Amino acid sequence: MLRETKHHIYPVIDIMLEKACDELAQDNIEISCKAGCAHCCYQLVEVTWDEGLVMLDWILAQPVDKQAEVVARLRKNAAVAKTLFSKDKRSARMLKPIKGDQIVPDSVYDNYFHELQEPCPFLQLDDNRCMAYAARPTACRTHLVSSPSEICAPNFALDDDDDIEIPEAIEDLKEDVGDILNSLQPDDRWGHMSTMLLRMLVEEGAISEEEASIEGVLPEQVKSAADAETHVA
Ligand code: SF4
Repeated sequence: MLRETKHHIYPVIDIMLEKACDELAQDNIEISCKAGCAHCCYQLVEVTWDEGLVMLDWILAQPVDKQAEVVARLRKNAAVAKTLFSKDKRSARMLKPIKGDQIVPDSVYDNYFHELQEPCPFLQLDDNRCMAYAARPTACRTHLVSSPSEICAPNFALDDDDDIEIPEAIEDLKEDVGDILNSLQPDDRWGHMSTMLLRMLVEEGAISEEEASIEGVLPEQVKSAADAETHVA
């Protein structure tokens, strides 16, 4: 059954975004995001527990084979992310759901994007579309850019994102929406999307701890390279 409270917030956020985009258009600033751009889907996406519940409902509404595919994608993504998060104490907190208002340094986000170059587990690589678009979290809804869409095209250079422009009004709106989300959530856990969703699937009883485990998920050569660099402080 869908959780009503989680679905109430997104229509409000979408209206806020629409209004902001209309106001930008009046100043001749057009949002260039469109289906098939995928630049933002390689970034570190965080979700609150409530946002994760919307995605959990989406996963549980899929046919069994699709659910299994998504779980496999989540495990792979979490395993790849672990190679980065295990590197130091500041990012190691991302290895499990985070409680409260701990700050994750900007360098973790930069390193995730530039080092891992790992697509979001919900990104369909054949058409660069989000398979869970209706349930996508706020970070994805509010990531709207005004730079030319070619920069975000499928063949973009992942090591060059300096030309991405996010209008100031959208940045302001992100802060407002963040405040709303924080004030509404009864469970204050948040964190890396795949890590959160695997935990939620276990707590929901949809999969076992063993089925959620990311041990042994990575190909041996990736694991060896990661282990050589890993040093949790
Ligand atoms: S949830 Fe969808 S929109 Fe968000 S990063 Fe993943 S694929 Fe992209």
